[in-house]
Amino acid sequence: MSLAVHRQTVPTRGVLFVGVGGQGVLLASTILGEVAMAAGLDVKKSEVHGMAKRGGVVFSHVRFGTEVFSPLIGLAEADALVAFEWAEGLRWLPYLKRDGLLVLDLARIVPPAAQRDHRTWTVRYPDLDPAALTGHHGPVVAVDARGRAMQLGSPHVANTILLGVLAARLEFPTALWEEVIERCVPPGTAAVNRRAFHEGRTLEPCALTWAQRWTPPQGVPGWRVAVATAWCKGCDICVRVCPEGILRPDGRGAVEVTVPERCTGCRLCEWLCPDFAITVHSRPAAPAGVAR
Ligand code: SF4
Ligand code: SF4
Repeated sequence: MSLAVHRQTVPTRGVLFVGVGGQGVLLASTILGEVAMAAGLDVKKSEVHGMAKRGGVVFSHVRFGTEVFSPLIGLAEADALVAFEWAEGLRWLPYLKRDGLLVLDLARIVPPAAQRDHRTWTVRYPDLDPAALTGHHGPVVAVDARGRAMQLGSPHVANTILLGVLAARLEFPTALWEEVIERCVPPGTAAVNRRAFHEGRTLEPCALTWAQRWTPPQGVPGWRVAVATAWCKGCDICVRVCPEGILRPDGRGAVEVTVPERCTGCRLCEWLCPDFAITVHSRPAAPAGVAR
């Protein structure tokens, strides 16, 4: 994407940020909007965000140019798609121009409804397979952003790495990006975000040759379901959603687990409890010879 920053000459561009709650999707789109505004452009932005704890879908449309009339990006209209999560990237791909820039985090966040078969680890979730992108003809920068962010010292700057990839294809001055990032990120994280941004700027489009498929974990761990009875109001949502039918009212206004060993760790109860009263933990592996 080539972009001059002189107000009279900039056609309207659209960048779509997509992911799930808690990934910093909105922060990244806010930074782009602030950069474009600081460059003297007209900017319109529209966003929808789900709840982070429940893995809600988050997306943000950002359009900028000399004069922008609507924030919304239609099908096959996005100049760039920045996808923070594999399945969300596939889902929003039709909104990207065929020759648009696809920036793709290889993170996989499997929603609870796709994990119902945890007992057999058959997950209804698309494979991490480049064949899914064969219809797209533009450049693709696919990156393990979270892994790189961890190496930089904070898993929370994966979004800034992806932003750096995008920024390298826009003609806004680097100093402007740095100034806006420093202003927008949480206090005390400016340095690591700056490193993340510059790491992203160095990443190049890649050949889609990876063939990393979902590999079931070795051995299904046990699960421990904990109910904070002081917070539980006995609404019985968890009772109704548990695929194993192992939760029931305890007769004292809360719920209890009837057959803990049948819990498959799907986390539907935890994700859907409106009061954060039920949590699911994997049990640590027992030492050899020690029963759990
Ligand atoms: S969904 Fe939450 S509040 Fe409702 S019964 Fe279950 S644990 Fe209690
Ligand atoms: S108790 Fe919760 S985590 Fe366990 S199977 Fe039922 S809904 Fe899933």
